[in-house]
Amino acid sequence: MKDLIYLDNNATTKIIDQVWDTMVPYFIHNYANASSLYHSMGREANSAIEKARSQVSKALNCQTKEIFFNSGATESINTVLKGVYKNYQSKGKHIITAKTEHKAVLTTLENLEKEGALITYLEVDRAGNIDLSALEQSITPKTIMLCLMAANNETGLVHPLDDIAQICKNKDCLFFCDATQYIGKLPLDLSKTEIDILCLSAHKFHGPKGIGALFIRRKTKPIQIHPLIEGGGQEHGFRAGTYNVPNIVGLGNAIAYFQENNRDAKEIAHLRDYLETALCELPEVYVHAKQAPRLPNTASICFRHITASELMTSCPQLALSSGSACVSGTRDPSHVLLAMGISKEDALATVRFSLSTLTTQEEVNKTIELIKKAVQKVREHSPIWQLFQAGLIT
Ligand code: PLP
Repeated sequence: MKDLIYLDNNATTKIIDQVWDTMVPYFIHNYANASSLYHSMGREANSAIEKARSQVSKALNCQTKEIFFNSGATESINTVLKGVYKNYQSKGKHIITAKTEHKAVLTTLENLEKEGALITYLEVDRAGNIDLSALEQSITPKTIMLCLMAANNETGLVHPLDDIAQICKNKDCLFFCDATQYIGKLPLDLSKTEIDILCLSAHKFHGPKGIGALFIRRKTKPIQIHPLIEGGGQEHGFRAGTYNVPNIVGLGNAIAYFQENNRDAKEIAHLRDYLETALCELPEVYVHAKQAPRLPNTASICFRHITASELMTSCPQLALSSGSACVSGTRDPSHVLLAMGISKEDALATVRFSLSTLTTQEEVNKTIELIKKAVQKVREHSPIWQLFQAGLIT
């Protein structure tokens, strides 16, 4: 693991020392239950939680009372989709989403469909963009919510959040934004971008795993979400369970660190672009959503006529990822790339490189060298590549 070059930061990130150091005291010195307000240790743990809540609300420019802690984005998505569906049935049962959403959204919505929810799955273009007029037309008086990610985890495509929020506002439809990949990579000002509900997850921006936050906008007509986890009265009864103090402290400090010290997004984008340009010197290699607004750290690259798994196996020094899921020993192509109209073969030939603020130029140089060699080697032995070279396939 010592020499592994880690370019799988959209899957998860390393906890940075500055964040880890703030968490340690809450494992070993102050281990109190943050709801035990009758002793000083409990009160101190409670203050640490409230400090973290301020750090999150400061980073997003919203109010502290609009932030709720939970175990991460999957829990937020389940809470919001199930909770809103349950509470808004008098308005309607219609929810809109896109075909390129994360499985946490698609699976939860498939299950709600079985209970009678009506779901519209918006189509996307070749880069993964939704059509804003199609969105506008699909919202009816019975539509209760749009659920759309801020940025795609596989391609990095960023949706036009301001325009989407405006459409939803004009049409009186809640906008729930899964910003799991966006927060910690690009800034967001919730006083300007009128998203109603938003989720984020600390492990995507150098914080701990298993902790996230849900933003629910305070409006004149309150947004009603039925809690997913009931029990004690934590988070004003919205999310029960003993507070995970070290993780909450880690989340607060990770988001504050990102806000104050993060390397300029442009610098990471520069490294990413350098990687893409160098790898595209190889024949039959292209970048998905290249011309679209994207996260600065993500490169989704198709190496045609080989498979991503062959390529990744040939480069054990690199930590990379493909969007495909392994189902019963065979690979399924990424649903995101298929929805974008990419062929099954090209989807299976796609590798995701996701950089972070910790990625260095040396690591990128080494990655280019290793990938170039591996692609050439795998293609030399590939009958598909020979067929392509002979002009027998396109
Ligand atoms: N949504 C998106 C876009 C993601 O990329 C992920 C994680 O990969 C999730 C949701 C789930 O996040 P968590 O690990 O916090 O449950």
